[in-house]
Amino acid sequence: MTWDPRTAIDRKRDGGSVDEADLRRLIDGYVAGEIGDGPMAAFLMACVIQGMDRAETAAITSTFVGSGTTLSLEGIGRPVVDKHSTGGVADGVSLVFAPLVAALGLACVKLAGGGLGHTGGTIDKLESIPGVRVDRAPEELREQAASIGCVIASQTTELVPADRAIYSLRDATATVRSIPLIAASVMSKKLAIGSDLIVLDVKVGSGAFMTEVADAVSLAETCRTIAADHARRATAAITDMSQPLGVAIGNALEVTEAIEVLRTERTGRLRDLSIELAAHALATLTGVEVDEATTRATAAIADGSALEAFRSLVAAQGGDPRVVDAPGEVLPQAPVRTPLTAGRDGILARTDAAALGEAARALGAGRRRAGDQIDPAVGIVLTPKVGDRLAVGQPIGEVHARDEAAARAAVEAVAAALTIGEGSVEPPPIVHRWLEEVS
Ligand code: URA
Repeated sequence: MTWDPRTAIDRKRDGGSVDEADLRRLIDGYVAGEIGDGPMAAFLMACVIQGMDRAETAAITSTFVGSGTTLSLEGIGRPVVDKHSTGGVADGVSLVFAPLVAALGLACVKLAGGGLGHTGGTIDKLESIPGVRVDRAPEELREQAASIGCVIASQTTELVPADRAIYSLRDATATVRSIPLIAASVMSKKLAIGSDLIVLDVKVGSGAFMTEVADAVSLAETCRTIAADHARRATAAITDMSQPLGVAIGNALEVTEAIEVLRTERTGRLRDLSIELAAHALATLTGVEVDEATTRATAAIADGSALEAFRSLVAAQGGDPRVVDAPGEVLPQAPVRTPLTAGRDGILARTDAAALGEAARALGAGRRRAGDQIDPAVGIVLTPKVGDRLAVGQPIGEVHARDEAAARAAVEAVAAALTIGEGSVEPPPIVHRWLEEVS
């Protein structure tokens, strides 16, 4: 008799614990196409509502990893760091971090995902560069890591296929916001790739899946426990997502911003966080002091070596490397550009990052349903940060849209997402805190 997925769904719905064997049957059955979206979505929703205990979280993570093959990077000649964000808005850190650590003599091999909910995905951003391939075979990942020190790829039918399949179903069924499911998704991608250090960027704030610091810490601890159980080193920073990190929201726009950072044309929170995470990785893996590591990371941007590493990454993955010289000529451009201006005088007190992520998604930068095509060109550029003084009518950015109606709706959404007040406002920290390694 074939196994009935309702066994696991019933149990989880009623608050019980599902054992590893049943989790495996469910997930392997789903990946093999024997169990449909309906039962899987029902199970995921039960997990969101009822939670999962430590054993279940460990088991679902191992099942994800075991759904495919794993890749050892031993012997590639560089210490390997993997980095992952739990999801945010204008969070292009990976596009800066990977080439930056490569320029520092480390290697970064990163399996990433597409956008989830209102948050952007590294894979969608990278794919906005014409020609870039993100579905890399394990051997290609290894070769690229050894030759140029950085590679960003997606889950494939070989590497964590279960996360690949379930990721888009979670997106389509509002079942992303769950600590165990996010931890399993993130950590399965990290465990499938051999690395010497996993750096977790756990976002907290209105634009993150975790809006409270306590929940972000709990997510970070869950991920680090999974790492420790697999004898893997992992550190975590709890970082601010109470406003968009960078200034660009939308795929090609975020690539442009990352290139501007690497070309030293743009400073700000995206650059600062990328440097802090890279310096932390360098210090942890090589033993240099954090101050020295920060100096080296800053220099690797200033002297153009991180930019050259990004050029190599794009070329190695089939993209047009001229993107680093002339992003505006190589990347897709939206036909309609509408300026954004401040609605009143005052201090920017609050930016609703999730609302801005949703506005970018409404423009076409993200998916509504699994399988939707995204529009790589559209999005929002918004320059002010919380605490900045604004004058009525001051230019604060631009909407990039496919048509006038979409642009008008986005302009209204941006205005509604900003709170401009009277009193001075302290900008939030970029990093709330670092959590030390567990062993
Ligand atoms: N990033 C992932 O890879 N998975 C999630 O569930 C959330 C962020």
